[in-house]
Amino acid sequence: MPIQIIIEKCTGCALCIKACPFDAIRIMDKSGDSGLASSGQSHKLESSGLASSGQSHKLESSGLASSSQSHKKALIDLNKCNLCGACLPACKLKAILIEKPEAKGEKPELKEYKGVWVFIEQKKSKIQSVSYELLGKASELARKLDTYVGAVLLGNSIGGQLDELFWYGADTAYVIEAPELANFQDEPYTNVLVKLIQKYKPEIFLCGATSIGRSLISRVAVKINTGLTADCTGLDIEPDKKILLQTRPAFGGNIMATIITPNHRPQMATVRHKVMQPMEADKRRKGKIIRENFDGALLSSRTKLLDIIEEVESLVNLAEADIIVSGGRGMAAPENFKLLEELAHVLGAAVGASRAAVDSGWMPYSHQVGQTGRTVAPKIYIACGISGQIQHLVGMQSSKIIVAINKDPDAPIFKVATYGIVGNLFQIIPALTKKFKETLNK
Ligand code: FAD
Repeated sequence: MPIQIIIEKCTGCALCIKACPFDAIRIMDKSGDSGLASSGQSHKLESSGLASSGQSHKLESSGLASSSQSHKKALIDLNKCNLCGACLPACKLKAILIEKPEAKGEKPELKEYKGVWVFIEQKKSKIQSVSYELLGKASELARKLDTYVGAVLLGNSIGGQLDELFWYGADTAYVIEAPELANFQDEPYTNVLVKLIQKYKPEIFLCGATSIGRSLISRVAVKINTGLTADCTGLDIEPDKKILLQTRPAFGGNIMATIITPNHRPQMATVRHKVMQPMEADKRRKGKIIRENFDGALLSSRTKLLDIIEEVESLVNLAEADIIVSGGRGMAAPENFKLLEELAHVLGAAVGASRAAVDSGWMPYSHQVGQTGRTVAPKIYIACGISGQIQHLVGMQSSKIIVAINKDPDAPIFKVATYGIVGNLFQIIPALTKKFKETLNK
C-alpha cells in the first residue's frame, strides 16, 4: 500500500482533509449511526474501490468500534490520491505514511554533469525562434553555474546557421547530420539525444514546449531515468545547492509550483514559445563545433514519414503580432468585439481573447490567450474587460507594455499592467480608436 493511515494514531481530526488538493480523504465513523459509515458516503467509498483495497479491512480488524479511542478515522480514496504528500505536514500526529517506490536504475554521479544544453528545433532546416529564446535563458543559468551553454542540432544540411547559435548564447554546438534526421521523427531523434546525453552529461537540458519538443523530450527523460517539468514559466538556479528551480502553474493555474530534480541528471524542462526572451545577438561571439556520427541502427525508425502537410495558419497570428488587443467577459456580447477589431485595424494589431470570451462563443479558440491558449509576448498588449486571472496572465505577462482597461480598480490585471485605465470600456475603446486614427492619419 503506497499510502497508509496508522489508525492507532489517527484521531479523525480532519486536518488532512483540508490539506488534500484532490479531495481524496474522508473521515469514517465506525460507531455506526452517527457517522459517515452509516450514511450514503460509505457506499460511495465502497463503490470507488476503497472497501476492497484492504484499507477498510484494516479498520475493521483493529477493533476500532469497540476501542476507547476516537471512532473517527481518516480513509484515503486511492482512486483520487496521487501521493503528492500535502497531507503529511498537516497531520500533527504523524498518522499518515507514504512509501514512494524507489526509482529504478542507478543514481547518477551528480558532479559528473556539467553544462546547460538546449535542444535546437529546426523545421525544413530553419531554426525555430523558441530555440534562441531558450539559449538566452540557458546563458543566464550557465553564468550562475559557471558552466557552458550547449546547443544540440539534429538535421541534414543544417550547417549554415551555426554562427547564429553562438551569437545567441551557445558556447558549443553539437551537430548531428544524417538524411534520417532531416525531419523530426521520434525514434531516431530520441536515440541520438540519449546517446549524446550519456556521453557528454549535461546537468540541465531545455527544450521548447512545441509539439516536437513535447513528443521528443518526454521519451528522452524516460530513457535516461530523469525528471521533466513541462511548460515552465520561470527557471532559475538555487544559490546554495545550485539546482534548477523549475516554476510552472499547477492545480489548474491556482498556484505557481517550483519543482526540483535533486537526485537525477540532467534536470529537464520544457518552455513554451515566447515565455523567455532571446539575448541580443552578439555577432562577435564564436564557439566550438562538435560533430558526431551515429550508425544506421540508431537512426532507424519503425514509422515512415510520408509527407508533411503545413498547418493552415489562422488569420490571426497572435504569436508573431507586435500589438494585441484582447477582450474578455467585460465585452459583454460577441458583437462588441467589433470595437476591438476597429482598434486593432488602426493599430495593425491582432485580436486576442480570454477563455471566458472564448467559452461564451464570442471568439474562436484560435484567439485564446493563456494557459490553455496561446502564449504571447507582443510589444503592446491591451487587455479590455479582462480581470487578470493567473491562467490568463501566464499567457501574456511577458508582453513589453501591458495596457489594462477595466471598470474595477481592484482587478488583478492592474498588478501586471504598465498603464491602467479604470473605466467603462465601451467609452474608452472608441475614444482610443478615434485618437489613434487622428494621430496615425488612418
Ligand atoms: P472575468 O474574470 O469575468 O473578468 C471580466 C472583467 O471585465 C472584470 O474584471 C470586470 O471588472 C471587467 N468588466 C466588465 N464590464 C466592463 C466594462 N464595461 N468596462 C470595463 N471593464 C469591464 N483563462 C484565459 O483567459 N486563458 C486561458 O488559457 C485559461 N486557461 C484556464 C485553464 C484552467 C485549467 C482553468 C481552471 C482556467 C483557465 N482560464 C483561462 C480561466 C480563468 O481562470 C478565468 O476564468 C478567465 O481568464 C476569466 O476571463 P475574463 O477575465 O474575461 O472574465
